[in-house]
Amino acid sequence: MAKRDGSRMAEPQRAGELPEDVDMDECMTSYTYVYSPDLLKDQVAFITGGGSGIGLRIAEVLMRHGCDTAIASRNIDKLREAATKLSAATGRRCLPLCMDVRQPETITAAVEETLRELCRIDILVNNAAGNFLCPATALSFNAFKTVMEIDTMGTFNTSKVVYEKWFKDHGGNIVNISATLGYRGQGLQVHAGSAKAANDAMTRHLAVEWGPSGVRVNTLAPGPISGTEGFRRLGGPRGEAAGAFQSIPLQRAGNKTEMAHAVLFLASRASSYVTGAILVADGGAWLTSANDVSKMLGYWSSEKKRDK
Ligand code: NAP
Repeated sequence: MAKRDGSRMAEPQRAGELPEDVDMDECMTSYTYVYSPDLLKDQVAFITGGGSGIGLRIAEVLMRHGCDTAIASRNIDKLREAATKLSAATGRRCLPLCMDVRQPETITAAVEETLRELCRIDILVNNAAGNFLCPATALSFNAFKTVMEIDTMGTFNTSKVVYEKWFKDHGGNIVNISATLGYRGQGLQVHAGSAKAANDAMTRHLAVEWGPSGVRVNTLAPGPISGTEGFRRLGGPRGEAAGAFQSIPLQRAGNKTEMAHAVLFLASRASSYVTGAILVADGGAWLTSANDVSKMLGYWSSEKKRDK
């Protein structure tokens, strides 16, 4: 397409570059490999929050590359259902484990069971988190504390247990799932933005301390990702329909498989000399997206009315 000054406008991102995905918490019906299918052959990944959303797709993509997984969170029924689907789609083992990242003793029990059943842990993905939109003035002390406890303390607790029980003597890869909310102080997100900023610092601290034991620690920071509860709750589908993503350099939301591919890179030997890094996978969103608090407050109060 020609612009008025005679130069050519860039083509929109080529459709063939996007990996397959499905919107709901289901496995993909087809999958095209980008990496070698045996990249993670006979490895084991422990994934918090692996029963839904981005975590479920991470589990599926790692399993499609030869890995067994343990998926751990609070709702065991949801995890069992997810584990059955994941094993059926990939032919690998998936162990569903009930665990709350705020309670170290439940983490210890889950990690011990993983080691008993799957005999090793090569990869830890700290993906569990809680989020919602809320202005600081309406946010209770308890709500702020809960998000810090799940996102930040949960990441530390799980990393520490896996390190002590396995990584200390065998090495391994930690991938934390963060967000870009804190980069520009995203409105109505002081809780999650603060928690994830602390995790980004934690990534570098642990990379420094645990590198000599052969442990790499990296972070993936997704932008808005379709087909997730976070996306639905934060108004993604309606924003998409209203053209809100046109301000993103890549002009769209990301998909869960794209996030799983980034985790696969950070968790595998493809990134063998990378540690302490934050990989932003957001189509450039944080550079350009709106951060208009009065508009967001209007959206927030109309959503609250809809809830009632
Ligand atoms: P999700 O489906 O709600 O996943 C969150 C998972 O965390 C759930 O499976 C949940 O399982 C688990 N969880 C929550 N509290 C827990 C606790 N106390 N202990 C153990 N597990 C707990 O959300 P998602 O959108 O896929 O988000 C996944 C990650 O991506 C999060 O770290 C999020 O911050 C990040 N992220 C998402 C987006 C997005 O657009 N969706 C954007 C940027 C970053 P249970 O209920 O069974 O405990």
